[in-house]
Amino acid sequence: MEVPMSVDMRLTTLGHWSNSSAGPTTSFHVAADDAQILLDVGLDPIGRLQAAGLQPTDVTHVYVSHLHSDHVGGFANFVFTRTLLNREGDVPLLKLTVLGHPQVLVGLKALLDLQYPERTFDLAWVECGEEPVSLGGQLKARLVPTDHPVPCYGVVLETGRAKIGFTGDTGPLASHQQDYAGCDVLIGEAFGLAGDVGDSIHRRGHSTAEDLGELVNAARPRFVVPFHFGQEYADTSKRAKLLSACGAPDVQVVDPVDSEQITIAQS
Ligand SMILES: [Zn+2]
Ligand SMILES: [Zn+2]
Repeated sequence: MEVPMSVDMRLTTLGHWSNSSAGPTTSFHVAADDAQILLDVGLDPIGRLQAAGLQPTDVTHVYVSHLHSDHVGGFANFVFTRTLLNREGDVPLLKLTVLGHPQVLVGLKALLDLQYPERTFDLAWVECGEEPVSLGGQLKARLVPTDHPVPCYGVVLETGRAKIGFTGDTGPLASHQQDYAGCDVLIGEAFGLAGDVGDSIHRRGHSTAEDLGELVNAARPRFVVPFHFGQEYADTSKRAKLLSACGAPDVQVVDPVDSEQITIAQS
């Protein structure tokens, strides 16, 4: 699923399921100005990028919301394989910048040390927080706190022309209505319909489709891309119910399972 938002910002879904029994887990690709950013790196981001016709060596930034394996399982493999892909290249590999909350970055460094103790990777590490951090050009990132059992942060990416929000995994928080206001696109967690998954998922730090619908109704993005649902929503009619609960008037709900290309005209 690809969502071109303007000539200089485009979103491609690489994975969106909440666990790998259903399919590829959370990872999104954003192309903005000269940057190509991965939002989370679920299982096999290299394979998913290649399947989408994107070059792993063109990725310039990786943002990781938190260290649960469905969001970070492909991290060390992505960093390692990206360097191999350029072995024959006659142009130097673009430097990869890893973005995140300082606590998450500590975990990512530990993962690389554990899985590749014999190697050093030429990476730039950029600590982000709730104040916007400039990533070069007009691109900026700011973090959004979540309600999740481990340190986890959503992110808002902004260029001069577009704004994209990604909630990561989170229980519903009233502050998100302000945090994600004015986004062109909101990638929002919807674990399932409340009637199916129960409100007890709030205690585990997750949101229902109805919770996302409430956020969308307040923040009013132009597009909402629900993600993080389980295998039962592979069923088209069941998923249609989930997707309709995530919407609001004048907001287009994008089905992440749909492989059709969707064009978003810049208003
Ligand atoms: Zn998750
Ligand atoms: Zn999680």
